[in-house]
Amino acid sequence: MSHSEDKELFEGKWYAHPVLRNALIAGGLTGLAYALGHLGFISPVMETALYAVAVPLGGYHWMREWIEEFIKEKEVGIEILMLAATIGSVILRMADEAAFLVFLYGTAEGLEEYTYARTRASIRKLLDLAPKEARVLLDGGDKLIPATELVVGDVFRVKPGESLATDGVVVAGRSSVNEAPVTGESVPVEKSEGMKVFAATINHEGSLDIRVTATYENNTLAKMVHLVEAAQAQKSKTQLFIEKFGRRYSPSVLLASLVLLVVPFFLGGSVKGWATRAVVLLVAAAPCALVMSTPVAVAAGIGRAGRAGVLVKGGAHLESLGKIRAVAFDKTGTLTLGKPAVSDVVPLQGSASDLLILAASVEKFSEHPLAQAIVRRAAEMQVDPQEPLEFSALVGAGARGTVNGRTIYVGKPEFIQELDVAVTCWSQVEGLRKEGKTVLLVRGDGEILGLIALRDEIRPEAPEVIAALHQMKVKVVMLTGDSAITADAVARELGIDEVRADLKPEEKIAAVEELEKNYGAVAMVGDGINDAPALARATVGIAMGVAGADAAIEAADTALMADDLRKVISALNLGRRARQVSRQNIVFSLLLLAVLIPLALLGMMTVAASVFFHETSEILAVANGLRMAGTEI
Ligand code: ADP
Ligand code: MG
Repeated sequence: MSHSEDKELFEGKWYAHPVLRNALIAGGLTGLAYALGHLGFISPVMETALYAVAVPLGGYHWMREWIEEFIKEKEVGIEILMLAATIGSVILRMADEAAFLVFLYGTAEGLEEYTYARTRASIRKLLDLAPKEARVLLDGGDKLIPATELVVGDVFRVKPGESLATDGVVVAGRSSVNEAPVTGESVPVEKSEGMKVFAATINHEGSLDIRVTATYENNTLAKMVHLVEAAQAQKSKTQLFIEKFGRRYSPSVLLASLVLLVVPFFLGGSVKGWATRAVVLLVAAAPCALVMSTPVAVAAGIGRAGRAGVLVKGGAHLESLGKIRAVAFDKTGTLTLGKPAVSDVVPLQGSASDLLILAASVEKFSEHPLAQAIVRRAAEMQVDPQEPLEFSALVGAGARGTVNGRTIYVGKPEFIQELDVAVTCWSQVEGLRKEGKTVLLVRGDGEILGLIALRDEIRPEAPEVIAALHQMKVKVVMLTGDSAITADAVARELGIDEVRADLKPEEKIAAVEELEKNYGAVAMVGDGINDAPALARATVGIAMGVAGADAAIEAADTALMADDLRKVISALNLGRRARQVSRQNIVFSLLLLAVLIPLALLGMMTVAASVFFHETSEILAVANGLRMAGTEI
């Protein structure tokens, strides 16, 4: 029932699993004793002797586990109910039923532990996709070395059709690479000099020389696998609730059976009959299937997600994903490609290239996508930006730099206006914004020098994803620091329900809080770094396109390795499925208890029947949970 660390890492064959193995041997022994005894080949004493061997053998693991747990936590768990039932059966001279109980209970336990361990180990298979050897380039040619010996800075060559041993940056060559093992996305990605590549991804037509950026043990794939394994060990809220419930429920079952034992002394009736009922009740009322309702489903779901490049950081997050009523998307870089391009350069004085030089000089050291677009356009037009003396980024507003002794600002018109200059070109600003463009003003000494407009392409999959969310009855909201007019233009194109524009980074947090109040559980989707505070505040923070960005992976509740909005739908669907499966299991196991407990109390069931129904239901719950592993996403 409990999953301690050592058991979780079992990777052997099913018959080698200690709990399962013992249970099956005990089962064989019990069957043999029963058959030989009833056919008259062995004496009843012999038969009982064989049962006496089978019981401790089959019960060894869970009985020991119970004793350890009882000593440590002083709790009455399911094991003590089963132990009491076994002892009770023996006292009542039903050794055969005791042996049957030990066999079936052990088998169900073993199967459950084995399944859980395998579910957790399945993500590890991903590691096998990275080749064990790499071709390092040395002065005198190349040499195959074990991949574990690669160090950061080494350069290795990957020929067409080969997989990459570890993460790196392309230093020579050009090819397309299938990144499915890491991102879950099988459409090949073009790679050329300077681009990041990941372990286990598959090189297609060209040869690539790659400079190692992470060792074999430390690469993105290895981190992903560890992360998923750690996540699978995190209990979901439902699981914690059931365990808490179990801590009160199991002792009550024990108490109830003790009460049954004394009934005949007050009300009369057969002592043996009531004692048998007490034993039957112990088994019938034990909440095995209930306890198994969620953990397998959650672990299998998280493993399934991981293999699709969706890192869900724990059972609680998987369940939250299933409850989402509204999804808030960041605009720049999330709904759009985040690679804006300059569309208009409108000088109010001087030439367009002068304006571009000034703006590019200021933005040269900025990491903001808008800034980089301006620098790129300047390079395309072969105008040489100057080195700005002193540069500062004004987060969510603009940038400032000193160029040729002049202080130049580039930024959002509203922000420039707040400085001391009167902005007189509002009609031009609005005209460009209505076309869905982002407008920046360039300000010199006390005057506006001109406008630069940028357009960011909408991600091709965005409309389909938003339509799918609507179909799932989920509200779609856009949060952005950009202006309302630009944001509205983009939102209209996409069919987004609600827009919150002109938000400063900290205002995005308040917006998320408000959405949560209005709709319930909210997922925030953004790029992990810029939007980290809002991601942290949302019910579930989903960071997108994080392959190679460790900080972003760490900060999010759910991280999408690929830059693909469709994975948001996968994550939400998986959460819904996980909740559905665990709800089915809970209802099923409660219904079963509702039938078995009265039958036990009325004395209408044998110990064997009770054991059979009880263990079968546990196995069914596990099997149902396991369906998550094969979910189509
Ligand atoms: P978003 O929420 O759309 O990702 P940000 O919060 O990053 O946007 O920025 C909000 C606005 O601030 C941008 O639309 C832009 O007008 C302005 N801005 C931010 N940084 C810069 C910069 N380095 N250069 C020019 N403008 C900037
Ligand atoms: Mg952004």
